[in-house]
Amino acid sequence: MAKSKYEYVREFEAATDSRLLPDSYVVVRVDGQCFHRFAKEHQFLKPNDKRALDLMNKSALHVMRTFYPNIIMAYGQSDEYSFIIRRLAYFFNRRTAKITSLITSAFTSAFVFYWPRFFCSIPLKYPPSFDGRAVLYPNERTLTDYLRWRQVDCHINNLYNTAFYALTGEYTRYVPDTSNCSPSNSPPTTYNLFLGDPSAKAPNRTFYSHAEATQRLSGSSSADKNELMFTDYGVNYNDELQQFRKGTAIVLTPPQADTTTKVDLPETPAVVIKPSKSALKRSAKVEEDFAALAIDQQERFFTTLHTDIIREDGDFWTAYSHLLKL
Ligand code: ATP
Ligand code: ATP
Ligand code: MG
Ligand code: MG
Repeated sequence: MAKSKYEYVREFEAATDSRLLPDSYVVVRVDGQCFHRFAKEHQFLKPNDKRALDLMNKSALHVMRTFYPNIIMAYGQSDEYSFIIRRLAYFFNRRTAKITSLITSAFTSAFVFYWPRFFCSIPLKYPPSFDGRAVLYPNERTLTDYLRWRQVDCHINNLYNTAFYALTGEYTRYVPDTSNCSPSNSPPTTYNLFLGDPSAKAPNRTFYSHAEATQRLSGSSSADKNELMFTDYGVNYNDELQQFRKGTAIVLTPPQADTTTKVDLPETPAVVIKPSKSALKRSAKVEEDFAALAIDQQERFFTTLHTDIIREDGDFWTAYSHLLKL
């Protein structure tokens, strides 16, 4: 096709296009924009609305499927999800904007797409947005410390929020319900509805305004919060769901002994700046084979966990540290 006289402006795109440093881990973190308000408008239960967390997990699983096998792990809590891209990934030539924007938009559209499956009778009042950023981590130490940082954040915030909403009388407990909520246009699901527990609001308890609750918790230690919740409000923090206390990790685990799904991970030499043509061809084949599987078969390549990812010698890193070598 003949070039137009306007073609020269392409140079401006090329001049601003940046690539993610090779041979380093990339974390793309998405975070809900103004979810404080979004939660209020959509009547999220406090301190944790399990429907919203499950929807976040479903959206993260969609992202991991879409970019298989480039995302080795994802970690989510509250309105954020971090996607860990394998060190040797070479998808989209490691173009920063392409990767960040595609992950963020895939996550956002899945959040909207799956919303009715989790929120049933509560319609979306407006289209939610997520921001996205890509950060590089040069080695396993900094990458795993990044994940520890997010889980510590989850713990600190969740302990605070649980105590806070106990004090204000808005605390709700997760009660599984076996009645399904699955709109006719979605596949059957065993999802349990979050009901909340009105008995948590016993009449003989004293409740405080938000300002008073903030005041009461200021300067309190973890032990103080645990004690206050338990003694004055009957909330045993240890009984809270692991999902709330630890957040959610989703890891890549291709089914090994499965003859129906012949999908391998790409071969991975120690260091790759730019993979050879044949290596790129093999990667494309892996992606193609995976894309040909049905969604439920694809989902079997991922394991969802609510567990400690802080302890270096804990079960999580013992089982999954090999992912960091991919
Ligand atoms: P920003 O646009 O800067 O991210 P934000 O309002 O989204 O602002 P965050 O620090 O990201 O602020 O906090 C997200 C807020 O969303 C939480 O403080 C909480 O109020 C609410 N939220 C998110 N997920 C849930 C959930 N599952 N259950 C209850 N509340 C939630
Ligand atoms: P990439 O992921 O690289 O963007 P792409 O397949 O989206 O790949 P584009 O160069 O963005 O490629 O081209 C979009 C293609 O989508 C068009 O070539 C056309 O085939 C199709 N398309 C987009 N909008 C319309 C439309 N309104 N009507 C018909 N076809 C459309
Ligand atoms: Mg947010
Ligand atoms: Mg947030």
